[in-house]
Amino acid sequence: MDTWRFWRRGLIAGTAAAAGLSRGSAPMQAAAQGAAPATAPRRGLECIVLGTKGGPRVGPGRSNPGYVFLVDGVPYLVDCGPRVTSQLVAAGIPLQSIRKIFITHHHNDHNIEYGNVVNLAWTNGLNRPIESYGPPPLKRMTELFWELNERDISIRMADEGRPDPRALLNVAELDKPGVVYEDDKVRVTAALVNHPPVEPAFAYRFDAAGRSIVFSGDTTADDRLIALARGADVLLHEVIHVPGIDAIVASLPNAATLREHLIASHTPTYDVGRVAKEARVKKLVLTHLVPGDNPRIPDEAWTDEPRRAFNGEVVLGQDLMRL
Ligand SMILES: [Zn+2]
Ligand SMILES: [Zn+2]
Repeated sequence: MDTWRFWRRGLIAGTAAAAGLSRGSAPMQAAAQGAAPATAPRRGLECIVLGTKGGPRVGPGRSNPGYVFLVDGVPYLVDCGPRVTSQLVAAGIPLQSIRKIFITHHHNDHNIEYGNVVNLAWTNGLNRPIESYGPPPLKRMTELFWELNERDISIRMADEGRPDPRALLNVAELDKPGVVYEDDKVRVTAALVNHPPVEPAFAYRFDAAGRSIVFSGDTTADDRLIALARGADVLLHEVIHVPGIDAIVASLPNAATLREHLIASHTPTYDVGRVAKEARVKKLVLTHLVPGDNPRIPDEAWTDEPRRAFNGEVVLGQDLMRL
């Protein structure tokens, strides 16, 4: 979300740093634990939440967007925000084991490490192709990424005898909803969602081994997402806390416009419970928190309204949480 440019003004820089240190203690502990080598792959479908903060603002607390879906232990990465590579390592996922990458939309909190994660998988021993899926111009972006890194690639190929990484990434551009990928273990389905002005923007649903987990991407409350998530075991849904945003934008001359813009492209806490209820999911996990690094927002401020609207389980997302 480019609206985060306003945050660069540093209005909350001091408190954000403090927030990261205090609120980040649990994820940091988890990260330390997760740094151990991965144990034997679990069977079935699970998801590790790599980052729960919306926007590209990098700080010591919650990490930025990234989710790894594991199908019998095989990783499918969804979104590549800042720090996603190190969060994969913290989660015990070897980079070279990634099989597919899905990008929801082209905001940099969702795609900035897309090329880097593949590049670093390559120098970490990647020896079979990764397939990536996402909105146009993903092919052009991929070509330009390899061009950007051509110097290092040619040196390493000659000097270290590595394969050509450009042959290890196959791109499929998506411009419409439907089943994106299917094999005998997993089906991945995409829905278009409403995230103006970014088009197209997708949500993804994973079905495997009798379980289903959906990630909303960035969106307003959207009937197409509700249809995609129908009956799912877990819905990971983005959310914004409007009073928290108000507190930040209050002193800006364009406060009204900015607030309007955020609400026009994201889902407030007072709407997200209705989405989970109408989709009849079992569990709602709040993620892509905006603002995700303000210590003055208590946990209940995120969960109270969704719990009033939705009878199922409501969980406030945490980095490295396993679902
Ligand atoms: Zn975002
Ligand atoms: Zn976005």
